[in-house]
This record gives sequence, structure tokens and C-alpha cells, in this order.
Amino acid sequence: MKAIVVGAGMGGLTAAIALKQIGIEVEVYERVTENKPVGAAISLWSNGVKCLNHLGLEAEAAALGGIVDTMSYVDAYSGETMCRFSMQPLIDEVGQRPYPMARAELQLMLMNAYGFDGIAFGKKMVSMDQDDQGVTVAFADGSTTTGDFMIGADGANSLTREYVLGGPVSRRYAGYVNFNGLVAVDEEIGPATEWTTYVGDNRRVSVMPVAGDRFYFFCDVPMPQDVPYDKGTAREVLTKEFADWAPGVRKLIATLDPATTNRVEILDLDPFHTWVKGRIAVLGDAAHNTTPDIGQGGCSAMEDAISLQAAFIEHPGDIGAALAAYESARTERAGDLVLRARKRCEVTHGKDPEKTAAWYAELREEDGSNILRGIVGNIAGGPLT
Ligand code: FAD
Repeated sequence: MKAIVVGAGMGGLTAAIALKQIGIEVEVYERVTENKPVGAAISLWSNGVKCLNHLGLEAEAAALGGIVDTMSYVDAYSGETMCRFSMQPLIDEVGQRPYPMARAELQLMLMNAYGFDGIAFGKKMVSMDQDDQGVTVAFADGSTTTGDFMIGADGANSLTREYVLGGPVSRRYAGYVNFNGLVAVDEEIGPATEWTTYVGDNRRVSVMPVAGDRFYFFCDVPMPQDVPYDKGTAREVLTKEFADWAPGVRKLIATLDPATTNRVEILDLDPFHTWVKGRIAVLGDAAHNTTPDIGQGGCSAMEDAISLQAAFIEHPGDIGAALAAYESARTERAGDLVLRARKRCEVTHGKDPEKTAAWYAELREEDGSNILRGIVGNIAGGPLT
């Protein structure tokens, strides 16, 4: 049996590894010509890390992961700690430490694990079709390929999703822009093994460690969509936006490299429950596009891959039954994470400023238990929990 996977992001690559491991022949097609993911890093929560472990990548994941021993929230202006608590209760409860990782390193690790030779780069899918015998995928360079089934892991603007749903869908602007990048660990910004989040004025600025003595940072700025932005001007923009914030934030902005700082408008998509049409299925952001407010989009893509593998183990040789089992295992769980993230996004970014102010007040009383309970709630419910 031969699978065609379109998209070599974290969803497509984990799916390709998972299918290959159970003896399915896999071909991966990716439109870009080099490994240059948009976004500096990712916080892979315990459910995502467990997926990598399940694929035999435990040591590789641990080597890329930053060690987060504590979390803290800090007042944006005074720099006063609102709460600080240990991650250990969460690690004990779910049985796995989370790992923030640099995105390019995670991608490279997955590409190595699957095998570079099995990935065709510079192949932009332009159409797909199927009949009783299999699927045919066509690329912008005029070439085609055929297989028994196809997994469209082609991201948030997925062409496969359009095919499966019978038409395009509109994503929803979440109301803020996320600036992100990597800087060297600096204790003036935050402790080296802490996930530090400065909050105030419906914004947040966060740093967390990744391997190699670096912080992954992001700054969320509520603003209208399509505000003009010149690439490379992140320092000017952020200096203005966070002018009166605490010294740690100002140090971060002074330290970041404007040339490598990304600016991403945050969108999501209402959950939908049709993920399969015949021999073609969506996976990852193509199937569930979420705001990053609970750090679960990529983890959820990896959960898809594990569920897809389980479905083909349960229904060997039966594509229809396996894809139906995959769809039924995943749509509710993934949709729930999209809606949880949307809710969190609204509180964090001041959709109702009174609710956001109440959250800041709660943070000053927090001993960690409420926050960790919420995170455990996000982690639980996947194929390996
Ligand atoms: P992608 O990573 O988008 O990969 C899709 C691939 O398909 C791309 O390589 C693309 O080039 C390729 N492709 C697209 N169209 C075609 C085509 N027609 N032909 C061939 N190839 C094609 N998730 C977390 O778990 N934790 C986090 O902390 C986190 N933080 C985030 C922060 C930000 C700012 C954002 C925007 C997202 C964040 N996410 C996070 C979400 C996470 O990045 C995504 O959920 C994840 O990248 C989805 O992986 P994917 O493989 O489905 O899609």
C-alpha cells in the first residue's frame, strides 16, 4: 500500500514516520525548497512529546527541548512577580516534561528521522483526484504521482481541505499579531529555566528556554488585521508598543535580532468534522487551525499522526475503514482544543477588558494549581493519554 503525504511540516512528517513504521510505503511532497519554517520555536506540551516518544524519538526530542522547571507571571509595568510555581506537579501528573524547541531544529530532526531521500522538495501540489483504484496528485511543475491514499498535511491554507469540504473556507482573524524569535538566555529578561510571561494592557510578552542556552520569545500585540509592516523593523515597532514596560521586556526588545524576528497575524478556523473524502484525508493545521494561545496546534497535528497509525494497525489494508476510524478518533478532540485556545485568546487579549482585568487579579492570588489544572486539561484526551 502506498501513501502520498503532501506537506513536510510537523504534521506531515510525523504522519509519514508513523505510516512508514507500520510497513506502508510513503512519498512526501513539499512545495518549499529548503527547511525554513515560519516561526522561531514551539512549546511542545507533554502530549506532543509523548507522540515523538511513541515514534522512537525520545532522545532526539529531549536533546532539542529546553528545561522549564518553573512558570511565572510578571506585572508588565512594575516587573513585580504576580505568581511563580513549579512545573513538577504537572510533570508528575501527566508523566512527561514539556519541551520548548526551535522549530527549524524540530523540522530537521523529523526530516532526518523519516529520511531526506523520501521527501520531494519544490513540489507544489495544484490538484488531486481519485477513483476506485487510487489517488492522483498533480504538481505545479506539470508532474503527477499516484498512490492508494493521500494525506493532506498542507497547513492552514490547505488545498486538500478545500477538496475534502467541496469549497474554500474563511479563517477568522483573532485580533492580534505575534512577534517571535530566539535570543540568548539572559537573566535580566527571565530566569534560565523558567517560562516567564509579562502581562498587562491586554498584551503579553513571554520567554521560555530551548536547548542551546536560548530563549524562545514572543510578544502579542492586539491590533487590526493588515496593518502595514516593513520586514526587519520589529525593534522599532516593539519599542513603541512596549515603551513603558518593565526593564526585562525592554532588554528583550533591545537584544532581539530584527532580521530574524517573525511577525505573524493570528487566525483560526471554526472546527469542522469532515476530514475524509474517499481516499483523501486532511491532517494537522489543514484539519484544525487554532490560535497558539494554549500551544496545542502542533501537538494536535502529532496526535493526528499517532491516531492515523493506530487506525491502519486496526484496519490493515482497508483504507476506507482506517480513514473513517482516524476521522472519528480525532475531530472532536482537535475541535475542542481549537475552542479552548480561542477562549484563552479572548481572556489574554482583552476581548472583554473586565474579564482580562479579573484574570490579572487572579494571577496575583495564584499558587499554580489553577493554571496547571488548565494545562493538564489541554494535554489529556489525546491518543496516548
Ligand atoms: P505546517 O507546519 O504549516 O506545514 C504545512 C506544510 O505544507 C508546509 O511545509 C507547506 O510549505 C506545505 N504545503 C502547503 N501547501 C502545499 C502544497 N500545495 N503543496 C506542497 N506542500 C504544501 N503549536 C504548538 O503545538 N505549540 C506552540 O507553542 C505553537 N506555537 C505557535 C505559535 C505561532 C505564532 C503559530 C502561528 C502557531 C503555533 N503553533 C504551536 C501551531 C503550529 O505551528 C502548527 O499547528 C503546526 O505547524 C501545524 O503543522 P502542520 O504540519 O499541520 O502545518
